[in-house]
Amino acid sequence: MVNLTFYGGVKEIGGNKILLEDRGTKIFLDFGMSFTRRGQFFEEFLNPRSANGIGDFLAMGLIPDIPGVYRTDLLEHMGRKAVETDISGVILSHAHADHANYISFLHKDIPIYCGETCKRILEAVAEQSTRDIENEVIDFRVRPLYRSGYKHPPVKRTFHTFTTGKKFKIDNLEVEPIHVDHSVPGAYGFIIHTSEGPVVYTGDLRMHGLHAEMTNDFITAAQTERPLAMISEGTRINKKKTDESEQKISQDSTKKIQQCHTLTIVDFNFKDVDRFTTFYRIAKNLGKTLVINFKHACFLEQYCHDKKLNVPSVNDPNLALLKPKRLTGTYINDDYTDSYIKNRLHYHNIVTAPDITKNPSKYMVVLNFWYFSDLVDLKPTNGLYVHSLSEPFNEEMEISYDRMKNWLTHFDMEFFQSHCSGHINGDDLKELIRTINPKKLYPIHTDYPGLFRRLSIKTTMVKEGKTYKL
Ligand SMILES: [Zn+2]
Repeated sequence: MVNLTFYGGVKEIGGNKILLEDRGTKIFLDFGMSFTRRGQFFEEFLNPRSANGIGDFLAMGLIPDIPGVYRTDLLEHMGRKAVETDISGVILSHAHADHANYISFLHKDIPIYCGETCKRILEAVAEQSTRDIENEVIDFRVRPLYRSGYKHPPVKRTFHTFTTGKKFKIDNLEVEPIHVDHSVPGAYGFIIHTSEGPVVYTGDLRMHGLHAEMTNDFITAAQTERPLAMISEGTRINKKKTDESEQKISQDSTKKIQQCHTLTIVDFNFKDVDRFTTFYRIAKNLGKTLVINFKHACFLEQYCHDKKLNVPSVNDPNLALLKPKRLTGTYINDDYTDSYIKNRLHYHNIVTAPDITKNPSKYMVVLNFWYFSDLVDLKPTNGLYVHSLSEPFNEEMEISYDRMKNWLTHFDMEFFQSHCSGHINGDDLKELIRTINPKKLYPIHTDYPGLFRRLSIKTTMVKEGKTYKL
């Protein structure tokens, strides 16, 4: 008997935590943070208190209350008895926070299985973020954290990394990871060989990106197995095929940037290595320098280890690193206390805002909205702002979006939107499902579950915390 338990109903956008049990072996497929669920109760200045262990997370339903899963220090911190874990592993599909971040809370003896590049991205995330209880994926500090506790090194989690097509075993379960194309490298779908038959998990994927052949490898492998069940993402099941593509972003943005005779600012998610490559190539072709920040450098240095990603090194002649204004505001090296900056201050291609303002048309600066105060120093008057991210899809994002537009108006900057999604559209997804043709389908991560019913496949609309027998 194989059981599937979904922590997060069909409509939960992100926060995947799926428990698979087979002959006494229990594994999780992803263990992510649900932004929607967290956003129901918390916001920027109202956060779960780490001073309460995982108490606030459990009380507010951000994580399921199940025994044998969580860190013993966090349980004891909230006055519960620590228990040993009976979970044999987590298979992590990719490094996005809504799939990975709540691994932070998991018992230290639960090994994590993920792609090699996925692990590297998690390392980059850890290097440049301030440690908090919600991002301790790679390692964690035992709580409660007393001042003396800083003397001890953090507790490292056990990771086992894999590459595409290389099967591995977790107890008696054989797992086959197959690469897929998504808006982050190192993304995988899985075929899990259970005692009842093969179970397929798509993770997040798409067909319209630069590496459709990877998703096709996954589809072919899954189809051959004649799966008993498939757990499928459905983020954009309501969307038709469009002309969106990475090539279109490159063409449209090149045209726009060529017309700009002063500073160009671009904003995209640095976890998306294809998008980075798109803007790096545009800069190179137009004889400009792409200016990234020290946080981006952490990611780029990790990407460089994966030869298939074919990215330039941080000291490439078409790249520069922007030194932020800190403490005294005079750019002296003493101003920098964060180790991810301190360790890189000797790089030869570091620039400051005054360097850029001397010759603004020579640069394209990668700048996220949260760093817009840098615009005061970059003086981008009459410049261009390329927004290569999704448009706002909730109220909070709308508010930030309006504020972002105010900055652009203030500096007389032109706004240009150019983006393509990391998720498969409805037309492609329906075709994928028909091709793989599982006996049973469990859609997740979708606002439009009803659209799955139109397929002639037995479909279950999963409910929060409910167990389904295969
Ligand atoms: Zn994702």
